[in-house]
Amino acid sequence: MFKAFLIKYGEIGIKGKNRHLFEDALVQQIKYALRPVEGDFLISKEQGRIYIEALGEYDDAEAVERLACVFGIVGICPVVLTEEGGFEKLAEDVLAYLDARYPDKNKTFKVNTRRAKKSYPLTSMEVNAALGERILEAFPEMKVDVHCPDIMVNVEIRKQINIYSETVPGPGGMPVGTNGKGMLLLSGGIDSPVAGYMIAKRGVKLDAVYFHAPPYTSERAKQKVVDLAKIVAKYAGPIYLKVVNFTEIQMYIYEKCPHEELTIIMRRYMMRIAEEFARETNSLGLITGESIGQVASQTMQSLAATDEVCQIPVYRPLIGFDKQEIIEVSEKIGTYETSILPYEDCCTIFVAKHPVTKPNLKIIRRSETHLEEKIAELVKAAIETAETIVVEADV
Ligand code: ATP
Ligand code: MG
Repeated sequence: MFKAFLIKYGEIGIKGKNRHLFEDALVQQIKYALRPVEGDFLISKEQGRIYIEALGEYDDAEAVERLACVFGIVGICPVVLTEEGGFEKLAEDVLAYLDARYPDKNKTFKVNTRRAKKSYPLTSMEVNAALGERILEAFPEMKVDVHCPDIMVNVEIRKQINIYSETVPGPGGMPVGTNGKGMLLLSGGIDSPVAGYMIAKRGVKLDAVYFHAPPYTSERAKQKVVDLAKIVAKYAGPIYLKVVNFTEIQMYIYEKCPHEELTIIMRRYMMRIAEEFARETNSLGLITGESIGQVASQTMQSLAATDEVCQIPVYRPLIGFDKQEIIEVSEKIGTYETSILPYEDCCTIFVAKHPVTKPNLKIIRRSETHLEEKIAELVKAAIETAETIVVEADV
C-alpha cells in the first residue's frame, strides 16, 4: 500500500545555510543505498523533507532495510501521499489508510495534525478533533488514548497531504561526504570495520588500506578484508581500498630489529605508509580500531609510539570501548560473522613471545636506525606497487 517514504533527518536540519549541502549529500547516499533494490524511485526534497516515491512495483522490506543503513536518517516513515481536496476527502483518505493498514481495529489512537500549509481552512486542533470523531464513528472498536496510543495517526498538511503512523528508526549520524575523508587502516579483525563505521557515521567518507604479507598471508585473508569493506560500504558508500604488499618490509624489520619491538616498529611503518596514501588522496586523518590496553601494541605507550610518526591526526573511535562493546556493534552492522573467520593476519605471523608493552621512544628510534640502508627504498616500492580495489556495497 505504501508507494512512498517520508525521510526524517535530525542533526542535519540545524545546519542553517549549509543545510542544502547536507540534504544533497543525503539524497546522494539514499540513491546509492537504493541502487541494489528492485524498482525505480523518485527522490525529492521539499520544505525540509525528503520523499522517496516508488514508480511501480518494488521490494518494500528491502528498501527499508537499505535505507536503515544511510547515515543522517533518523526515521523512515512509510507514508500515503494524497492530494488536498477539502476535509471530506481528507477524512476518507485517513479512514481508508487505517482500514488497510490495521485490519485489527482493537487499538487505541491519537490524531496528530501538523499544518505546514497555513492557508488550510481548519487549524490543526480542529482537524484533530474532526478526524478523531470520524474515526470513532467508522471504527467503533477503536478508542482514543492521547497519552500512549497504539497508533499515532500523523496527518501533515503540506503541498500534498502526508498520512503515516509508523517510523522505522534510521542510524542517525550525518550523511557521508559532509565531513571530509579519512583513511581507515582495515585489517581482517573485529575492530577496524567497526572503527570505520563509527567515523563514517559522522559524515566522513572512507578510503582504506590493508597490509598483507604473501605468502605468509593468503589470498583468502585478503578476500576477507575485501568482504569486510563491502559490508562497511553499505553504510559508507564505495571504498577505495589500497592493498599493500608488506612482506619485504616486515622481513627486513624482522632481520634487523629486536624481535620484541617488531610489532611496534611494523605498526609505525604501516602508519607512515597509510599517511602517504592519505596525503595523495586528500584524507584528513588516519582511522584505526585500537582501544587502550586491548593488546600489547595498544598500551598508552604503544599508541604514543605509533602516533609519533604521524603528521596528520589519528582517529581511534574505539579507544574507550571494551571488546564486548565492540562485538555488539560489529554484530549490529553485520561484520562480526566475517571478522571471526579464521584467516591469518600479517601481524600475528612474526609476533614475539614477549613483545614490549611500554616501548621507550628513544630505543625504538634507535632500533629503526638499523633499517636505514634499505627501508626508504622498500617503503617506496610498497607504495608504488600497491593495488587499488574499488569496493562497492554488495548488489
Ligand atoms: P582488528 O580487529 O581491527 O584487526 P586488533 O584487535 O587485531 O584489531 P591489532 O592487530 O593490534 O588489533 O591492530 C590494531 C589496528 O591496526 C587495527 O584495528 C587496524 O586499524 C590496524 N591494523 C592492524 N593490522 C593491519 C593490517 N594488516 N592492515 C591494515 N591495518 C591494520
Ligand atoms: Mg588485527
